[in-house]
Amino acid sequence: AKKQGKNQFKVFDEEIEKNKYFRKNTAEKLRNAISLQSFHLNFMPIYDCKTLSITQVEVLLRCDATNLEGVGPDVFIPIAEEFNIIHDIDMWVIETTLKILQQNKDTLPFAGLVYCINISAVELNHSEFVSKLQSLLNKYKVKPTQIELEITETSLVDINKTAITRLQEIKALGVKLSLDDFGTGYTAFNQLMHYPVNSLKIDKSFIDDLHATNIAKVTMVNTMLSIAQSFDLKTVAEGIETQEQLSFLQGTHCNMVQGYFLSKPLKLDKFLDLVST
Ligand code: C2E
Ligand code: CA
Ligand code: CA
Ligand code: CA
Repeated sequence: AKKQGKNQFKVFDEEIEKNKYFRKNTAEKLRNAISLQSFHLNFMPIYDCKTLSITQVEVLLRCDATNLEGVGPDVFIPIAEEFNIIHDIDMWVIETTLKILQQNKDTLPFAGLVYCINISAVELNHSEFVSKLQSLLNKYKVKPTQIELEITETSLVDINKTAITRLQEIKALGVKLSLDDFGTGYTAFNQLMHYPVNSLKIDKSFIDDLHATNIAKVTMVNTMLSIAQSFDLKTVAEGIETQEQLSFLQGTHCNMVQGYFLSKPLKLDKFLDLVST
């Protein structure tokens, strides 16, 4: 048994090494993809919970580099953060979104929506982030109120004073803010008060298997919805895959819904078709 234990450690060490190599290698490929701009954006509609009209859109990054095929943002974004290449990626996503907005400003349904862009919390430690954002908005003549930045709740757990100041500066520009993957972090009520956010996105893990008789899920979702209401925050439930989940949420005061049941993330042309008809 002892010998087997030792072997298990060896396997474990090898796994760690392999993983380290994978991350370094992926970071290298990402740097290359950044210099070649081998990325595109997908657009995922967000619907009003009651009317099911599209009110917002989440912008999602895809990498086109052939040597990163099958590697999604779930995998490469944390690596980009670890290897300090996230800033270039975040700025590319922001600039590309604004460019697309400028190019399509005459398509009215498109122009009237709010565009939700994911950014890494590391941006909150960059002193120039806010001024860069401001100058991009000016450059592409996009109204700040058309942009919402999503920041994950877990990344804000050990948030410092400068990061809070940065959030306030972003909000002062008129850009909206939302707390992503809400419920997966450990935000205490008293902390939430200090985050100058406009909305909460309830994480998919709470929506999975959500139906009227699943008391645990129902209780958690209702609690999050009432927290949001008491702080005067809008709510978005993500990961709606069934009619059952949608029907449940339509019986609550949840504001918006997003998920494969309503629409998958779409290429720009497909998304334009959808909102122009
Ligand atoms: P997220 O911000 O929580 O984004 C939602 C993810 O859940 C997306 O995956 C979306 O396609 C997926 N999703 C939405 N509804 C459903 C559903 O009903 N069923 C299922 N199975 N999945 C659903 P995606 O595009 O792979 O993004 C994964 C994560 O990568 C995002 O999670 C976000 O944290 C990060 N990410 C994506 N794009 C960017 C970006 O441009 N910048 C940064 N910094 N992070 C990004
Ligand atoms: Ca998000
Ligand atoms: Ca999320
Ligand atoms: Ca997520």
